[in-house]
Amino acid sequence: MNRKVLITGASRGIGREIAVSFAGKKDELFLTCINNIDELTRLGKELEQEHGISCHVYKCDVGDYGEVKELFRQIEDIDILVNNAGIAWLGLMTDMEEKDWRRLMSTNLDSLFNTSKHAVPIMVRKHSGRIINISSVWGNAGASCEVAYSASKGGVNSFTRALAKELAPSNIQVNAVCCGVIDTDMNRKHLTGEELDELADEIPMGRMGDAKEVANLVTMVAEAPLYMTGQIITIDGGWI
Ligand code: NAP
Repeated sequence: MNRKVLITGASRGIGREIAVSFAGKKDELFLTCINNIDELTRLGKELEQEHGISCHVYKCDVGDYGEVKELFRQIEDIDILVNNAGIAWLGLMTDMEEKDWRRLMSTNLDSLFNTSKHAVPIMVRKHSGRIINISSVWGNAGASCEVAYSASKGGVNSFTRALAKELAPSNIQVNAVCCGVIDTDMNRKHLTGEELDELADEIPMGRMGDAKEVANLVTMVAEAPLYMTGQIITIDGGWI
């Protein structure tokens, strides 16, 4: 479809599958990560070869305003912004160091301001555009030992609803895709196999979600009627 799509955190997990999904639609991709640039470069080349598209890759800390500003010097046009990059931190709130709180908040929430601040003026000029933020069920429900993460995703949901209202007159759609437990490094890194099984038992569908399922939903939302804006769209195997 040749839309210009920026996906943050595309080197692994959900972001990677979102990139694959938009590549299948023949869009031009702008992909970022913070560390795994070799992996992201490999993915970009694979998608270019397989789908005959252009794929640009960047190392950029989305929580750092200056780095995002520099990124947008290299991206002149954008149709779709997918704010996917995110991190988790597990433990008691009182055990969390201030630097970890700041890091999580900047990655999960400041990032939405940093990217939207630069993408929105381009979209307003074109009187079109779509922003999709990747959120979590913990943003609604709140999770013990994930206070910062829950707060950041609650912020993502409110940011989404508010920005949707602000941008509706400019014909720009803003939604969030709110995930339950999805099988990626984010969970594998923090939880044991036994804990993952226990989590899966609490999900009516009896399993974690697949990143490809989230990616399919994201590409659907990017093509949904414009009138569907300001929504927090949940994909959680029936958990809520
Ligand atoms: P993941 O597998 O851990 O991948 C995280 C991605 O974000 C990687 O590409 C990573 O880049 C990138 N990233 C991390 N910090 C960054 C930063 N400061 N700047 C730029 N990129 C950064 O995570 P995931 O499970 O796919 O999660 C993706 C999104 O879905 C997150 O927003 C997460 O909160 C949300 N989500 C996930 C789940 C779940 O169960 N997995 C549930 C609900 C919501 P590097 O590879 O370079 O480190």
